[in-house]
Amino acid sequence: MSAVVTRLPVMRPWLGDEETAAVAEVIASGWVAQGPRVAEFEERFAASQQVEHAVATSSCTTALHLALAVAGIGPGDDVVVPSFSFIATANAATYVGARPVFADVCELTGNVTAHTIERVLTPRTRAVVVVDQGGVPVDLDAIRELCDARDILVVEDAACGAGSTYRGRPVGAGADVTAWSFHPRKILTTGEGGMLTTPHADWALRARRLREHAMSAGAADRHAHVLAPQEEYLEIGFNHRMTDLQAAVGIVQLGKLPEIVARRRELAATYTAALAGDQGLRVVRDPSYGTTNFQSYWVEVLDAHPRTRDEVLEALADAGVSARRGIMATHLEPAYRRHSGRVAQLPVTERLTRRTLILPLFHQMAASDQGRVLDVLLEPGA
Ligand SMILES: *Cc1c(COP(=O)(O)O)cnc(C)c1O
Repeated sequence: MSAVVTRLPVMRPWLGDEETAAVAEVIASGWVAQGPRVAEFEERFAASQQVEHAVATSSCTTALHLALAVAGIGPGDDVVVPSFSFIATANAATYVGARPVFADVCELTGNVTAHTIERVLTPRTRAVVVVDQGGVPVDLDAIRELCDARDILVVEDAACGAGSTYRGRPVGAGADVTAWSFHPRKILTTGEGGMLTTPHADWALRARRLREHAMSAGAADRHAHVLAPQEEYLEIGFNHRMTDLQAAVGIVQLGKLPEIVARRRELAATYTAALAGDQGLRVVRDPSYGTTNFQSYWVEVLDAHPRTRDEVLEALADAGVSARRGIMATHLEPAYRRHSGRVAQLPVTERLTRRTLILPLFHQMAASDQGRVLDVLLEPGA
């Protein structure tokens, strides 16, 4: 590998002077923890995602934890989750003492379906966590029909989903409660950060309380008084708060969301046009019922391809391109192997996790950057 070739990352956040100015303003204000900027970010996020209530958190993982807690999920309950997801989806069920039950996914979308969920329901199933994997919207209507008839709650892990749509609306709006991520690997970033959204006012209220140690009056409220009212701790809560420093960045990022998604879809279209004729590769696409933000642009390396997935990754690495293995299969990780005797067959999950890879895609990516990736993938004999 030539030393002059710069390494091409798989993702790079699009941050600039506006975010820097927003953070500087918060620092100058002297209020850096959860406060007015967090409240403003929540309001703007709820409006943009067409949901009634938004509660900012320290991450999507903590938002998922709160989502299951406010939904009343706990010990003795089964929670259906895709294994084909980042491990945090299953971990959230484990945190509240419930048992994650893994469902397989559809090979076209990488998402659970009403059919794959139905196959693993048990008499103890109380919730399903659906994921918009890599930004591809989950087909929610059929899942709601299945779950509503059985009093099973639908939680959406939209960590990757900001800017994706389902039947003309933003994803996440049709679930009982939805969790979002602002990690730099996702569409919008606040460094670390997350959001819980829900149509249920009482769940939002309880989530707000639980994220702040279950205090009866939050720190920002008490600060508004010279002699702060005595707070009470109504139950055992957590510290899952976002800071105003993060929220200030989030407000700027949210304003850029349409531009970020448009650029990602443009770059994805270039990949798709170049790779469509390749018999050895299958690329991710919009499903019939919605649009993806292409948070992850993944390709499946088929049997017809002269190289295996790992050989393609090596060839890309030799050219200085950091692609990534596809989405993980949680049930194959040591942390969940104790479940192994009880895990249903997950053939699609295992095939996709073994044969997919994620290509670099980020806002500032130049045509020449994409050319470097495509040169490797389209090499004669490759
Ligand atoms: C990234 C991701 C998470 C975790 O998000 P954090 O904000 O890092 O906690 C959870 N679920 C899915 C599907 C993810 O992709």
